[in-house]
Amino acid sequence: MLTARALAPGAPLRILDAALPRPEGGQVLVQVKACGVCRTDVHIVDGEIPACRYPVTPGHEVVGVVRDGGNRFPAGTRVGVAWLAWTCGECEYCGSGRENLCERARFTGCHVDGGYAQYLIADERYCLALPEHYGDAEAAPLLCAGLIGYRCYGFAGDARTIGLYGFGAAAHVLAQVACADGRRVFAFTRSGDEKAQRFARECGAHWAGAADEMPPEPLDAAIIFAPVGALVPQALRTVKRGGRVICGGIHMSDIPGFPYAWLWGEREIVSVANLTRTDGERFLAVAARVPIRTAVRTYPLERANDALGDLRAGRLSGAAVLVPGG
Ligand SMILES: [Zn+2]
Ligand SMILES: [Zn+2]
Repeated sequence: MLTARALAPGAPLRILDAALPRPEGGQVLVQVKACGVCRTDVHIVDGEIPACRYPVTPGHEVVGVVRDGGNRFPAGTRVGVAWLAWTCGECEYCGSGRENLCERARFTGCHVDGGYAQYLIADERYCLALPEHYGDAEAAPLLCAGLIGYRCYGFAGDARTIGLYGFGAAAHVLAQVACADGRRVFAFTRSGDEKAQRFARECGAHWAGAADEMPPEPLDAAIIFAPVGALVPQALRTVKRGGRVICGGIHMSDIPGFPYAWLWGEREIVSVANLTRTDGERFLAVAARVPIRTAVRTYPLERANDALGDLRAGRLSGAAVLVPGG
């Protein structure tokens, strides 16, 4: 089978032929139909995630079909494989509904091979059932961009006005969900990125502007998806007293110093890490109810490096999705 492998930190992916993996107890062999390209994959290829093992096949937004193994899903069932690949089940976090924080957790496309391949092996307990009315490529961005975005959204509580910094795959899904809930979305993009601002308005944003602009009104919460630490103090200045700034990325450049007055007034800064299976089930139930339109650009698996390059350079509206074929 064809795979796109990260052999060492900082090296471009290599397209290789590999043996078909065999499922063991409780595992399923999944034939990949589509795999989303996440910002985290760029960080993994660039060597910015210290926990990652190499060589590894990235990809944790996998839409595929069970071909063999396990007993939870009959062969032929379409499933989603997301970032959370395995947790210990016995630590204080696993025991309190916070398996996303398990220190022994393994992640798809980071510790175990992911979906930049024609097939992958997954623990069936961590596979997710997918709503039927999304095509394979259209469903892929739901599995991380959608899911992590939704977990961040939970941290925004009942905020009526929400800022989204970085209008890529996660924000374009979350904007639609938030608007369906009657929230008002304020989108912040790179300065001068008219295309992204137009895209944000198409996804329902009430206002779209540059990240260094102040929104037309103070916000209840802001979620940062861009891996840019300087956005943290920037976002703090846009939220009201008691407001919250939520950092949704796994990696960010350093946060510059800022006056304490910007934090004062019971403003909070929190990070969101990983996801639980319950997050997955809850979000996919929302996706079944709210007709989310995911904007995707598909690439054949052989062009995985081009997809990463387009994401890195900010050339995408929405999400890149690899389609392995075969
Ligand atoms: Zn654990
Ligand atoms: Zn991801």
